[in-house]
Amino acid sequence: MKKILVTGATGRTGSLVLRKLTELKDEFSVTGLARFEAKVKELFGTTEGFFFGDISDPQILQSALTGCQGLVILTSATPQIKGEIVPGTRPEFYFPENGTPEIVDWLGQKNQIDAAKEAGVSHIVLVGSMGGTNENHPLNSIGNGKILIWKRKAEQYLIDSGVDYTIIHPGGLQDAPGGLRELVVGKNDELLTNPPEGIPTSIPRADVAEVVVQALREPAARNKCFDIISKPEGDQTAVVTRDFTTLFNLTSPGF
Ligand code: NAP
Repeated sequence: MKKILVTGATGRTGSLVLRKLTELKDEFSVTGLARFEAKVKELFGTTEGFFFGDISDPQILQSALTGCQGLVILTSATPQIKGEIVPGTRPEFYFPENGTPEIVDWLGQKNQIDAAKEAGVSHIVLVGSMGGTNENHPLNSIGNGKILIWKRKAEQYLIDSGVDYTIIHPGGLQDAPGGLRELVVGKNDELLTNPPEGIPTSIPRADVAEVVVQALREPAARNKCFDIISKPEGDQTAVVTRDFTTLFNLTSPGF
């Protein structure tokens, strides 16, 4: 039985990972880290099995990680829209105080990696984002937060930490059912700079959540870093991905 902590467990992908791991009762004992009890109650109907706190707090991380073999990092800074949305104009974004990518995606992830190492965690699965090779990627200018730059800095820190890692860089996340598409892996944004014909650079959150769960199971996912998108549902050339060992064997270590 592997004990796993999922952070960002109230997030749109983190909550899917938590539900999937909870269903695999014989294999995983899962706990979540979240900030707000009310949000956990609303999502899961109970706060049982949760730790509450912020990833800036090493003590809560230490408590939540005690006895864990695995950590899933699904926290992220989230840009907020400034003012009201005016149709036909491009909205402006900002990051709340203490919620900037530097604080959440760099320092917050670094705290999690340090606490996990300290607790003897043997595997960290981190969900980042495609686009990190391009400093001028449009996501970096949102709220002037340089989000992909800070995320990549934390990923390098994880690679250098000596703890086994799986770093997943999804394309644009969709709220769509999982398990219906062929997943396509790549490296260093080649799927963005040279996209395969007819394949959008996106993937359902539910498929990313399944990749996280399979990464916790499959030795072939250890010490790998990869981009991932999906062929469209119903694509004539698609073979729905069910063999994750083969998928992970197509990926490689480091950036
Ligand atoms: P999300 O819904 O925005 O969830 C983010 C989670 O982080 C929430 O649970 C949030 O908690 C938590 N969090 C933020 N700051 C925290 C703090 N200081 N302490 C503790 N928890 C904190 O995430 P998502 O949309 O599923 O995205 C998952 C990952 O994929 C992110 O890294 C994202 O950048 C990346 N990604 C996104 C896209 C896209 O198209 N959106 C594309 C590629 C990759 P609360 O619930 O309390 O706010």
